[in-house]
Amino acid sequence: MEIITHPHPTLSYKSKTIQRINSELRDIVAQMFELMYAAKGVGLAANQVDLPLRLFIVNTSANAAEGEELVFINPVLSKGKGSEIEDEGCLSLPSVYGPVNRSRTIHVEAFGLQGNTISADLDGLLARVVQHETDHLDGIMFLDRMNPLSLKTLETDLQEFELEFTSRQQGGIIASDEVIYAKLAAWEDKFCTHRV
Ligand code: ZN
Repeated sequence: MEIITHPHPTLSYKSKTIQRINSELRDIVAQMFELMYAAKGVGLAANQVDLPLRLFIVNTSANAAEGEELVFINPVLSKGKGSEIEDEGCLSLPSVYGPVNRSRTIHVEAFGLQGNTISADLDGLLARVVQHETDHLDGIMFLDRMNPLSLKTLETDLQEFELEFTSRQQGGIIASDEVIYAKLAAWEDKFCTHRV
């Protein structure tokens, strides 16, 4: 497992609802926490590790020894109130930051890793992170939320990521789009299909 970077197609893919929570999923979550801490991040969505599942993790302390480890499965956001512009970054776009307008407070409903229900009103950094990560599950990057003028200032950085991606894909280091989508379909079959 590794963190994929812009413009990998899985980052623009709309993730599917998870239908079963099992030991394999718990193992995936454990690996995601390791990767997130290694990258000093505060949140990581399944898309960012090339998995098409509606799941993300958060620890606003970015430190395994501090804060609270939160897992959100099939999150649904509602009741966004107020707005606030802050710079955001993303583990799928290292060293790139830009201003994003988000709701100041938000309500989230989700499942936890034990199948427990989560229902909470969030504010501050946690509200922002949860909105950023839920966007990932819909295939939306923070870039897509920036105004055109701010986005223009990141043009050169983004072109570097795009050139790097193209060259790695052409060199066979990253699979072809066809193979990437076939793998996503296999993951969906495993975790997102109804079985009797
Ligand atoms: Zn991100």
